[in-house]
Amino acid sequence: MASSPPIVEASLNAAVLCSKLSTALPGKVFLPGSLEYNSSVDSYFFRTAKQTPACILKPQSADEVEAIVKILAANPGVKFAIRSGGHTPNPCQSNVDNGVTIDLRGLKRIDKKEGQDGVLSVGTGAEWGDVYDYLENTGRGAVGSRESSVGVGGFITGGGLSFFAPELGFACDNVVNMEIVTSKGIVNANAHENTDLFRAIRGGQGNFGIVTRFDIKTHERNTYWGGGILYPDTTEDAQFQAWSDLKNGKYDPYAAVIQSYLYFGAQKAFMVSNNMVYLKHIERPTGLAGFENIQPQVPGTNTMRLDTTKNFALELQAWQPLDQYAVYVTTTIKLSPSVGKKINSIWREATNLISDSPNITSVLTYQQFPPQDKDNPNGMGLNASDELHKDHFIIIISIYWHEIKDSERIANTTKDAVNKMEAAAAEENALHPFKYINYAAFWQQPPSSYGQGAKDAAEEVSAKYDPYLLFRKQAVGFKYS
Ligand SMILES: Cc1cc2nc3c(=O)[nH]c(=O)nc-3n(C[C@H](O)[C@H](O)[C@H](O)COP(=O)(O)OP(=O)(O)OC[C@H]3O[C@@H](n4cnc5c(N)ncnc54)[C@H](O)[C@@H]3O)c2cc1C
Repeated sequence: MASSPPIVEASLNAAVLCSKLSTALPGKVFLPGSLEYNSSVDSYFFRTAKQTPACILKPQSADEVEAIVKILAANPGVKFAIRSGGHTPNPCQSNVDNGVTIDLRGLKRIDKKEGQDGVLSVGTGAEWGDVYDYLENTGRGAVGSRESSVGVGGFITGGGLSFFAPELGFACDNVVNMEIVTSKGIVNANAHENTDLFRAIRGGQGNFGIVTRFDIKTHERNTYWGGGILYPDTTEDAQFQAWSDLKNGKYDPYAAVIQSYLYFGAQKAFMVSNNMVYLKHIERPTGLAGFENIQPQVPGTNTMRLDTTKNFALELQAWQPLDQYAVYVTTTIKLSPSVGKKINSIWREATNLISDSPNITSVLTYQQFPPQDKDNPNGMGLNASDELHKDHFIIIISIYWHEIKDSERIANTTKDAVNKMEAAAAEENALHPFKYINYAAFWQQPPSSYGQGAKDAAEEVSAKYDPYLLFRKQAVGFKYS
C-alpha cells in the first residue's frame, strides 16, 4: 500500500475564519504572498513540512494564543496546526494546507523563574540553541535537544531525548510547570495543579492544548567529555560488542552514545558514527572507552574533548543535511548483537534500493532508552519498573533526499524496512510496542503505542479540559485512536 502523507481537504470556511482572526488580532494574521507568510513557510526545517495554510497567525503572548483558541473553537470545521520550532519532517503536523497555522516563534522569552532556584522559564518558540546561549558560562545545563536549532515546544511535549537522557530521563520529566492554553482558557499544570493534564501532555503534544511556556529545571554542569568519531562500517561487530560491554556492566548514567549507521549518497559510502558524551569533567573516561578505542577510525574525524552543551549541540547540528525532503520512522527494541545485525542488514538493503536518488543520505540510529521516574510519570504510559533503560533502544531511521518525485518511493521503502525490522526483532522477543512521537513517521500512531492506561487517561483529560475535542479533532498532528 502506498505511503502518502495525509491531505487536508480545502475548506471554504478557512478564508472566512482568517478574516475573523484578522479583525480580532490586527497585525498578527498573515496571508499568502506576504513577506511574513513566506518567511514562516520557508523556515520549516524540512521541505516536507513547507505547506501552505490559508493564513499564518503570529501571536506574541499567551493572551493572544487564548484569543485565537476561542475563535477556533467558535468556528469548527477548519483544521489548524500548532508550530514551535517547525522541525518535524511530517506534513500535517506543525503546518497544514488550507487551514490555519499558529506560528509560536514570537513566544521565545527566556528568564530565570522568580523565587525558584535553578528553574528557567522558556517560551515555546525558543530554540534550544537560545537556551544553551543563555546558560553558557553559568555552570548550569538544561535537558534539551542535541542539536541547537530544534524548537522547545515540540521537543518537550513529545518527550525529548537529550545528551543527559541516561542520567535524567526525557526532557519532559525535567519540567516543573507548563503554562497551557486549553479550550477552557489558560492554566498552569504541574505536580500540584492540573496534575492529570501535566502528565498527559508530556508525550501528548497538541492533543490537549497549546503550551506557551515551560518552566524547566537546570542542573549543575560545566564542561564534560564528548564529541564524535566516524568509522568505516566494517567496525559493525566491534560497535555491537561495545554496546554489550556498556550494557552488561553496572548501569552507567553518565555514558550517552548516539550510534548512527550512515549512507552518504554523494560519496556512495556506508559509514558508522558515534556521537557521545560522558557527563562528567573527566578526560577519556573508561565509560566510553569501548567506543573510543574501536579501530579503524576515519582519519581526522575524532573530535572527543572537554566542552559545553552549546558546542556539542552546534557540532551535531553541522551534520544535518539542509533543505531536504525527509522521512523519520521509529521503533523500539531490546538490543543484542544478533538483533542489531539483522536490523542493520535490513536497513542496508533498503538503502541500496533508494541509493539512486541524487545525494540521498540514509541514517539508522540507535539511542539508549531513558530511565523513567516512578514518582513523576509522564503521558507515555511507560513503567519505571520495566527498566527499559538497561537494555532497550529507540531506533530512528531518517532519510533525506532532494527530489520530490522520489518521495513516495522512499517512504514506501522505509515503511517496508521498519516492518521487516519489527518482524526480525519480534522473532527474537526483542520488539517493544513503544513508538517515540518525535521520531515517528506520518503513517505511525505513537499515542496508540502508549498502553491502555495512558490512552484512558488521555480520554479523561480531553473530557475535562477540552469537552468539544477542539484539539483532538481540529488540530492536526498525531492522535489517540
Ligand atoms: C535537526 C534535528 C535534530 C533533532 N534532534 C533531536 C534530539 O536530539 N532529540 C530528540 O528527541 N528529538 C530530536 N529531533 C526531533 C524533534 O524532537 C522533533 O521534530 C520535535 O517535535 C521538534 O520540535 P519543534 O518545536 O521544532 O517542532 P514542530 O514541528 O514545531 O512541532 C512538532 C509537533 O509538536 C507539536 N507542538 C509544537 N509546539 C507545541 C506546543 N507549544 N504545544 C503543543 N504542541 C506543540 C506540533 O503541533 C507538532 O505536532 C530533531 C529533529 C531535527 C530536525
